[in-house]
Amino acid sequence: MSKKPMAWGEMIRLNNRAFCIFFKRYPQMVLSRLLSVIWNALTPYAGICFSALVIDELAGSRDAGRLRFLVLLTLVSAAAISLLSALLNKWKETQNAGVWWKVNQLFTEKLLDMDYVSRDEARTTEILFQIRQNQGGTGWGMNRVIRDYEELCSSVFTLVGGFSLTVSLFGSRVPESAGAYTILNNPLFAMLMIAVMLMITYIAPVLSNKAESYWALSVKFLNRANLLYGFFGSLGYHREIATDVRMYRQDKICDINNKENRENSFGSKGIMAKYGRGPMGLYHAASSAVSVIFTGIVYAFVCLKAWAGAFGLGAVARYIASITKVSGGMSGLISALGDMRNNAAFLVPVFEFFDIPNNMYQGSLTVEKRRDRKYEVEFRNVSFKYPGNENYALRNVNIKFEIGRRLAVVGMNGSGKTTFIKLLCRLYDPTEGEILLNGIDIRKYNYAEYMMIFSIVFQDFQLFALKLGENVASKTAYDRGRVMDSLKKAGFAERLSELPDGIETYLYKDYDKNGVNISGGEAQKIAIARALYKDAPFIILDEPTAALDPIAEADIYSKFNDIAGDKTAIYISHRLSSCKFCDIIVVFHEGAIIQQGTHDSLVADENGKYYELWHAQARYYTENYFSGY
Ligand code: ADP
Repeated sequence: MSKKPMAWGEMIRLNNRAFCIFFKRYPQMVLSRLLSVIWNALTPYAGICFSALVIDELAGSRDAGRLRFLVLLTLVSAAAISLLSALLNKWKETQNAGVWWKVNQLFTEKLLDMDYVSRDEARTTEILFQIRQNQGGTGWGMNRVIRDYEELCSSVFTLVGGFSLTVSLFGSRVPESAGAYTILNNPLFAMLMIAVMLMITYIAPVLSNKAESYWALSVKFLNRANLLYGFFGSLGYHREIATDVRMYRQDKICDINNKENRENSFGSKGIMAKYGRGPMGLYHAASSAVSVIFTGIVYAFVCLKAWAGAFGLGAVARYIASITKVSGGMSGLISALGDMRNNAAFLVPVFEFFDIPNNMYQGSLTVEKRRDRKYEVEFRNVSFKYPGNENYALRNVNIKFEIGRRLAVVGMNGSGKTTFIKLLCRLYDPTEGEILLNGIDIRKYNYAEYMMIFSIVFQDFQLFALKLGENVASKTAYDRGRVMDSLKKAGFAERLSELPDGIETYLYKDYDKNGVNISGGEAQKIAIARALYKDAPFIILDEPTAALDPIAEADIYSKFNDIAGDKTAIYISHRLSSCKFCDIIVVFHEGAIIQQGTHDSLVADENGKYYELWHAQARYYTENYFSGY
């Protein structure tokens, strides 16, 4: 736990930076919120002034005509203010709609824009998690910035309005006939009063900020407590773990009421509760007490002056109301500054995240769109280490293949197959060596264009709870014919004919009660259809069939041979039987290519890894099964 609060200069820099991000991205939202609070800060003074005039008239000359006029003026101004307030409020509400989403959008955009290598780094996930926990759990971070600026504006304008109505209190003179009370005219007395008021107004929010600072001082604890509440507390929401939770009664370990969790969380034994009972609570109580003392002193001073004849009843009402406002404004100002200082500690990880650089070289060469789809890919002495890892995931990989070929990448789990694909589609750059497309280093190509030549179905592909057609096309406006065709080729035709709304049917029930639940195999067919719809020259299946049995996998892989047509198809599997039919089979072992050739040539090499794996796997399946392929 860091005990040192942040320096003021640093806190202003961090808050301003966050404010500018919001203002640049959502100017209307920021403007509407600030104008609204400024308006709300100033308008009460109109009411205070008009009612003071009415009171003065009632207590003074009691002219019925003038009284009528003043009451009418008060009513009209109140109506006009309410009308404008309502308009401003509507504007603010409209602009502020989905503010949570808007904040999230800032993070999502950064995530989507960042190099995949940075996205994949453990530190990125760690900061992001921390940010989300701070935001979701206790509301610290970006979400708080505009709120703090609102409070700042509101208090500054309250102070400006309040001061301008209060200045005359100190200037107004008690008549000489008031005897001892004339001491109130002494400028030293007025200065002493102002000093006492300022001091008290300052002390109250400082005490309150001191209490609130325990949040910032407990950042580390809060992260853990937020984790408990954020993830475990909402365990029931995660569909994907619903079975595990039931089978292993995981709700028990996550119960926020069990002893350990209670001590580590926001429960009655947690550290925040201890602070609440101790210093935090005391500071809050002291802050409230000081505010009451302030009000007492103001009342006494104003009443004394009025008693001595310095001003009338209307002015008493005006001074008391506006000084109370000044006190509120001062508290607001100090509390806003204190909150900004506390929040700045939570903005540090936010900017660490936003400042993650994009270091990947972005080439400019256009990827040649060849009608004959003649592409040649070559890995030349490629070695690769994952960032922060000492060990090579790939070592001296050399391979060349042409479009239209069927390439199988086989090997045991962890042998480097997926890494090979990630390098091919430039999610990472090689640590050593180079990858060439038609003889040119892939780093020199325009990145977005280069990505367009690959369709990949990854092992952990994800489908959205949207319409089937949208899932296949990855767009809301899509070519229905092509979607149907892709689904048919992927073997989904029969299931499609049963769907109530055809390709308009929603997957899952998250957004539509008529949505359909799909099996692992069906999901995988949809994922393949999505890859086909993209119609890229390279199509890669990276064990998307891991959830299927070997027979179903081999069935899909061999059918895919026809579907892929003239595209280059790369199949990855640790099940050798699935890839038997490929033109070239590349065997990976501990990050290196140790064998390549056709199935027949590889299986004939009795000393090779392929032979060993083939026979080890064959034991699991029947002779009948293999003879079928
Ligand atoms: P395969 O696809 O053959 O199962 P991978 O290519 O996924 O193997 O993994 C190759 C090696 O790289 C393994 O030792 C694995 O632990 C490591 N590895 C994979 N992904 C990462 C990652 N994101 N960060 C660090 N190491 C990784």
